[in-house]
Amino acid sequence: MISFEQYAKSFEGTVSALDVAANEETIRQIFRLRDEKNAIILGHNYMPPMIYGLSEESARGDSLLLAQVAAQTSSDVIVLNGVRFMAETAKILNPGKRVLIASKQAGCSLADPIRANEVKQIREEYPGAPVVTYINSYADVKAESDYCCTSANALRVVRHVREEFGTDTVIFLPDTLMGKNLQVELDALKSGIDLIYPGKKNTLMEGSCMVHEQFTANDLKGIRQEYDIPKGGQRRAVLAHWECPPDVIEEADFHGSTTQMMGYVREHKLEKAYLATECEMAANLQQQLPCVEFVRACLVFCPHMQQITLKGILHALETGDEDLHEVNVDEDIRVRALAPIERMISIS
Ligand code: SF4
Repeated sequence: MISFEQYAKSFEGTVSALDVAANEETIRQIFRLRDEKNAIILGHNYMPPMIYGLSEESARGDSLLLAQVAAQTSSDVIVLNGVRFMAETAKILNPGKRVLIASKQAGCSLADPIRANEVKQIREEYPGAPVVTYINSYADVKAESDYCCTSANALRVVRHVREEFGTDTVIFLPDTLMGKNLQVELDALKSGIDLIYPGKKNTLMEGSCMVHEQFTANDLKGIRQEYDIPKGGQRRAVLAHWECPPDVIEEADFHGSTTQMMGYVREHKLEKAYLATECEMAANLQQQLPCVEFVRACLVFCPHMQQITLKGILHALETGDEDLHEVNVDEDIRVRALAPIERMISIS
C-alpha cells in the first residue's frame, strides 16, 4: 500500500510540495482509514494528480480498467474516485463490496440524458434491433441493453451483434459523437451496418461528453502549428479521444480510449504529444512519463470529475454515509445490468 512518504515523493517536479504539505493531514487520514477499513482506492485518469496519486498504479485507469479491478478486488470497501456511473459499475460487478464515492452528485453529460425509459422508447421505434450500450452509462440503461461495449471493443461488439441478431440495424447508446465516429469506421469497412444513435433518425435527445465535444479540428491544426507537431510525424503526435467530433478524429494522428492513448505514447516513444481529452490526463501522464513533453494548452476540465475532492474522499471513508457516499444498485437491475457486461466479456 502506498504510504504518505511515497505519495509525496511521487510528485517531485509536478505538484508543488506546498500543496502536498497543505493537505498532509487529510491525506494521512485517508491512508489510515483505507488501511483500517481494508479499502482499495480506484482512480480515474481524469482525476487531478493529488487524487490520482492516492491509488496504487494498478488501480488507476479508464472506466473499463477500474471496473476490472473492482470486479477482482478482495478489499471490503471500494472507494471510486471517478463519477457515479463508474461506482455503479463496480457495484454491479462486485455486489458483496461496499462502494463509496466522494460525491454522489458527480454525474456525466453523456450518461445523464439516456435512462431506461429512453432505451424502451428507441426499442419501440426500431423493433427487433439489438441495443449496444457504451460502458459510460447508468445501471438501469445497461439493464435494458443486449450488450455493453467500451471504446476499445465497440466496433467488434457492434459487428458481432449484427451477426448474432441477423439485422443490419444496431442501436448504439448513449454517445451521439461516438456513434458518428463508429459509423464512419463501419462504412470504411463496408459493413452495411446502420448504427442508430441518439439524434439519428429517432427522437432521442443527443448526448455527448461536455469535455470532448468542445474540441475542434481547427484547434488541433492550431496546436500543430504552434507546437511544431506535424501530421503523420514520427515522434510527435496529436491524439484524440473517441468521444470527440468526427472532424477532430480525422485531424488526429491516433484516436482511442484514454488507456489506448497512453499505450500509444509509450509504444511510439513520443517526445512530444497533445491529447485532445480532459486536461488532468496530461498532468497525470507527465508525472509518469517525464521524458515526454505533453503540450498543456488545455483548459477543458470535467465539472463532474471535479466534484471528487480530498475532503469528500475523507468524509466518505469516515462516515460511509448512505445518502452522500454509498452507491447501491437495486438487485433486480444489478442482475439484468450484469448480463450485457458478461456478454461483452465473453466475445472480447
Ligand atoms: S469527462 Fe465526459 S464522459 Fe467523462 S464524466 Fe465528464 S462528461 Fe462524462
